[in-house]
Amino acid sequence: RVFSYELQQSQALTENVYWKDTLLRAMENEQLFFYFQPIVAAKTGQIVYTEALLRLKMSDGRIVTPGEFLPSAERAGLNYALDCYVVKAALKILSANPDKKLSINISTAALNDSGWTEALIEAVHQQRLSPEHMIFEITETAVISDMEKAKQIVEELTSLGFRFAVDDFGAGFSSLYYLKHLSVEYVKIDQSLIKDLINDGEDKDFVRAIISMIHVYGKKVVGEGVENAAILEILTSMDVDLVQGFQIGRPAEHWPAAPTDNEDLNPKTFNHSIDRL
Ligand code: C2E
Ligand code: MG
Ligand code: MG
Ligand code: MG
Repeated sequence: RVFSYELQQSQALTENVYWKDTLLRAMENEQLFFYFQPIVAAKTGQIVYTEALLRLKMSDGRIVTPGEFLPSAERAGLNYALDCYVVKAALKILSANPDKKLSINISTAALNDSGWTEALIEAVHQQRLSPEHMIFEITETAVISDMEKAKQIVEELTSLGFRFAVDDFGAGFSSLYYLKHLSVEYVKIDQSLIKDLINDGEDKDFVRAIISMIHVYGKKVVGEGVENAAILEILTSMDVDLVQGFQIGRPAEHWPAAPTDNEDLNPKTFNHSIDRL
């Protein structure tokens, strides 16, 4: 047993080193890129903003999702570098598409660093971008480590027009303190809670209560991981503001196509994954 424990440890170590190496090289060679997934108004299906989800292209062409490399990246101390890379990439997209609204996922590393904020503000100013078009998705656990600092940075950036969303709400140790004290515009309910919606009873009541609680604090609710029409219907009946998930549009390499003005916007039939641009 001791031996197998040590073997496990050394495998974990090898894996960390592997991903650290791979990511450093990927950042240098710009092999990291985004998939895009629309976040739409529950009642109309209109795209409100689009989330950028990080992807890594391996030399054999395989596309790797963050679940595979983020834990190692974190352990290797690459969070900050990744945050910077992601923001840079997002700014590039926004300056080529000034009418788009884009959300990116950032870690606690960026939020706890005032140099990062300054660089961001400077870049947005220099490129004459609208901060309103940029939404930062932060997870609860990310904020927890240094709440005061994070609060201050969120407030500063919000006052300049940037927007924030709390991601994966309900997945960790949800703190109601965040709802009250963080100036975020959106709260995204975690997929695990959304999946439970197809059960009757307690689970439904629980999610309904969370939704009204978020509304009490004046934030908009986003339902994540909407995989089928039944869940979409339940969420809409529960007054969720925005929805995101495979039922509405899968993450894709191309920007989701925007519906035209006179198009039927029933989200049940409108498939945002089809790129018609
Ligand atoms: P997240 O921000 O909560 O993003 C939602 C995840 O759920 C994405 O996984 C998305 O592909 C997936 N998803 C969307 N709709 C559905 C659905 O209907 N059903 C199911 N089962 N899944 C759905 P992905 O792209 O693998 O990303 C995983 C996580 O990695 C993200 O969760 C986010 O926390 C993190 N991440 C993604 N991009 C970045 C990034 O650029 N920087 C950092 N630091 N983290 C990132
Ligand atoms: Mg997110
Ligand atoms: Mg999430
Ligand atoms: Mg997540």
